[in-house]
Amino acid sequence: MKDYDEKSQQSYLIILDQQQIHRSFQSFGCLLRVLSERESGEMDVLLQEYSILGPWKNIMRACSDLNALGMDVFKMIRCWVGSGSSVSFWIDNWTGFGPLKDRYPLLFLLESNKTCTVEQRMSPSPLSRFNWDWIGPALPSFVGPLLHECEHFLLAFECNSGSEFWGWDDGNGTRKDFAVKTVRMDVESIILGSSATVLPWSNWLPIKVNAFVWRAALDRIASKTNLSLRGITLDISCESCSGFPESVDHLLFRCPRVKTIWTLVLQWCKVPPDIPSSVSEVISMHNAWGSSIKFKRALHCILLTTMWIIWKTRNNKHFKNRIPRLDETIGDIKLWSFTWVKNRGKCSLIDWNSWCNFSFTM
Ligand SMILES: [Zn+2]
Repeated sequence: MKDYDEKSQQSYLIILDQQQIHRSFQSFGCLLRVLSERESGEMDVLLQEYSILGPWKNIMRACSDLNALGMDVFKMIRCWVGSGSSVSFWIDNWTGFGPLKDRYPLLFLLESNKTCTVEQRMSPSPLSRFNWDWIGPALPSFVGPLLHECEHFLLAFECNSGSEFWGWDDGNGTRKDFAVKTVRMDVESIILGSSATVLPWSNWLPIKVNAFVWRAALDRIASKTNLSLRGITLDISCESCSGFPESVDHLLFRCPRVKTIWTLVLQWCKVPPDIPSSVSEVISMHNAWGSSIKFKRALHCILLTTMWIIWKTRNNKHFKNRIPRLDETIGDIKLWSFTWVKNRGKCSLIDWNSWCNFSFTM
């Protein structure tokens, strides 16, 4: 992708940068750790000063990307209240609907202590549920209906003797520990739909390979047909066979040269010669082979590495005019998959010779 990005212009990059989003997910984890340890009300200060460099800036940039998908991150990152002693009543998102100061700005204006805690305003006792403290001797009468609505809304929430929990709300009120995987699956379900295949993220492979496969599954890599659909004038025919439009499926699976690569890879792996025709097929096909989970994971890495190398080879030809040699391409697939499986997968018993002969145990 780097080669492609260098030659193309920013206008081509309409698609989201999933690698950036992945890094930002990690920033959200950082945010939640800070939230769980901070003093009440500090979050608001941090957000107002997000222009400072560092993780806060990354978080706000990612929020903007996710907002474009309809995900309001600062409603999804919320607190499940325990005693309420460390949660700001007006400022923190502890209802899952955003801060109360945004929902009831007039009441917040009349609050005497803007940074009061949930514990100070709400009591576990059903007899005296709310302990309001307003500016001035009495609340103006026209605010009565609004306060009534607010109290009605808050009846769904209760303080208890437990501890506060900051986590990820998927929009259904479900309490989830924060994990990159959780957010990614929520993003995928929005982009792909709930019935679509969920892409397994392999931590045996670098982020750039996972992100590439994710983009390919979404049909969002910069194939010639996709660029043409975005209004860029170019010859969309495949440079390898000159016969078909260069779609994602064509350049990764259906082009005659690419079919030869897949045939050789499947032969090397000693599995049936069923060449995949789409990313979703690649994602699931390793499940039918091998006996151990580790072996299946290694096969999965090889298949995803094959897609990645095919894409790199295509870019080298297109941008650097390097005519690809078949034996070099296969050699790259073996070498990179070996490097990642052995080191990232911690499969130290595999050596290069047994990998090339595909005669190893895991
Ligand atoms: Zn072709």
